[in-house]
Parts: sequence; structure tokens; C-alpha cells
Amino acid sequence: MHIEAETLETKLERSGARMTAPRRVIARVLGEAEDHPDVEELHRRAQAVDSGISLATVYRTVRLFEQLGIVERHEFQSGRARYEHGGQEHHDHFIDVKSGEVVEFHAPEIEALQAEIAARHGYRILDHRLVIYVERLDKK
Ligand SMILES: [Zn+2]
Repeated sequence: MHIEAETLETKLERSGARMTAPRRVIARVLGEAEDHPDVEELHRRAQAVDSGISLATVYRTVRLFEQLGIVERHEFQSGRARYEHGGQEHHDHFIDVKSGEVVEFHAPEIEALQAEIAARHGYRILDHRLVIYVERLDKK
């Protein structure tokens, strides 16, 4: 979901990490992504901006971003890590097992139910992730 006041680039600057040209490009590409690209896809998009950016640089950079807490890493079923801009409005994910498509959703009913169940167990929820594997209903 793409609702944020601050760009990934700005967050990177504020993190105090050294700003290099590749880091800036990767931050911009990931910040603009409406999907959940993996490293190879990020590499393709970064190369479209600067062909000198290597796959290894993209790997190192997303790992750094993850350590800085400015991107979220997901391990959806495929085992291939996918990334998205962190700190967005909370949402959960459907994964279409056939197409591999990742669909974001937000369900206040689920959020409320989780909070209620946690409270029943004596807990308050600090964070959660919900991934639901789906297949499309056949249209009849
Ligand atoms: Zn997402």
C-alpha cells in the first residue's frame, strides 16, 4: 500500500547511512514500487536507471535497508524474499498460489478479532503479519 508521508530516500538520508548513488537509486525504485519485488526484479528496475548497478549491490543494499528498518522483507511461500517500503499503513497479504500475485488487504474485522483473542490470552498485540494463500474462484 502506497500511503506514506516520507519517501524511502528521505528515510535513508535520515538514517545517517552513507548516501551513494546506487543506494539512492534503489531507494527510489523500491519507494515507487506498487508491488513486492524480489531482488532480481529490483535489479532490473535499478539498472533501467543506472546500468552500472550490480545484482550484488542490490542484495547488499536491501539487506542494509532492512537493518535500518526502512524496508520490510517478506518470505512468501516461494522462498524468494520480496521487499516493500516499511512503515506503511498496516496491511496483510493474499498470495495467489497459481499466479504468484501478491494482493494487499486491510480488514478491520480481522484486526479487531486478533486484538480480542490476544487480550483473552492476556496479551496486547505489538505487531503481526498475516499471509493467506489463495486461489481464484472459478467464474461460472
Ligand atoms: Zn504489502
